[in-house]
Amino acid sequence: MPTITIGKTTIDYAIEKRSRRTHPAIQIDSYQKVTVLVPDNFDLHAVELLLHGKARWLLKHLNHSVPLPRLPLKEFVSGERFLFRGRLQALQVVGQQESGVVMDGGLIRVFIPITVVPQQYPSLVRQLLTKWYLEEANRLLPERIDHYVPIVGVAPTRLKIAEYKSRWGFCREDGLIALNWRIIQAPPSVIDYVVVHELTHRFHLHHRWPFWDAISEIIPDFEMRKQWLRDHGAELGW
Ligand SMILES: [Zn+2]
Repeated sequence: MPTITIGKTTIDYAIEKRSRRTHPAIQIDSYQKVTVLVPDNFDLHAVELLLHGKARWLLKHLNHSVPLPRLPLKEFVSGERFLFRGRLQALQVVGQQESGVVMDGGLIRVFIPITVVPQQYPSLVRQLLTKWYLEEANRLLPERIDHYVPIVGVAPTRLKIAEYKSRWGFCREDGLIALNWRIIQAPPSVIDYVVVHELTHRFHLHHRWPFWDAISEIIPDFEMRKQWLRDHGAELGW
């Protein structure tokens, strides 16, 4: 597969000849696969030039596949703050009979069995927190999907909520929608943007204008919500 390098990013692409085309076109599908459609007689050396000319556009549209930026690692100690639906909650680690997690006002209280030695606290807190967030995501995200199904006018064939290293969500050709549980740390408006984004992919499996047009009909200020993810995505990636 040919590749081009733009700055630090190397992009694989495929070339497909289309006899009825008069001009070349670049497509990016929902799997971030780049295809250049060219007329039969197109000079293949010009493809690279064409891609370089679209460098900014390519990077912008491929940003889904850029690994989420990471902040310095959390330490999982009392007083540290974690986002839940856009609100900062303070972590409180408590020794108790049994392990568990509860949200209590502005606190996320994590109970650690008193038999656990303190050196093991951080990894156990992390594990319990992750499990709790995933459970909350499994409660919250299907609700948001259900809310937007009649509005977008399409449902996923299956909904999967899991951890993804480099995306907030994706939609497969077979109708499966996957959402990253970490998105429930974002404000409700941003969670809804991700939900509508993936549902809209059921109609448009790409990021070209008909796709963004469809989103803006439901979420006119979607650009702001998208920007929130760019600015704060790192905070969700502990
Ligand atoms: Zn997308």
